[in-house]
Formats: sequence, C-alpha cells, structure tokens
Amino acid sequence: MPETCFFCKAEKDEQSLVCSACGRDTAIPSSLAAEHQALSQKRDRLRAELVEAKARLESRRRKPIGA
Ligand SMILES: [Zn+2]
Repeated sequence: MPETCFFCKAEKDEQSLVCSACGRDTAIPSSLAAEHQALSQKRDRLRAELVEAKARLESRRRKPIGA
C-alpha cells in the first residue's frame, strides 16, 4: 500500500519529505500532524462563530431604536 499525504491524501513517495501534490512537510510526526489538524478545526469553528456574531450584530443594528 502506498504512503499517502496526511494533509491532501495524495499518494506520495515514501522517501520524500515534502508532498509533491500540496507541498507540505510530510516528515513531521503524526502526533504533531494530528495536533495541527485539531487546531485547524478549532480555527474554522471560531471563524464560523465570528461570522455568525457579526451577522447578529448587523441585524441588531438595522433594527430601529424602540421597535
Ligand atoms: Zn499533500
């Protein structure tokens, strides 16, 4: 079974330290890679929350005072 890139899942050369498909460093330990993925997911969640909060703020602003 060929090695696959942790990030983009493309098949990669076992000896290569960098994925030829996405250019990311594939030589890092899998524990670090997992941590990286967890942080990325957290960042995406926070980004989504920010968008939601902005939308709430925006709709509040549009409401006339005293309505
Ligand atoms: Zn890759």
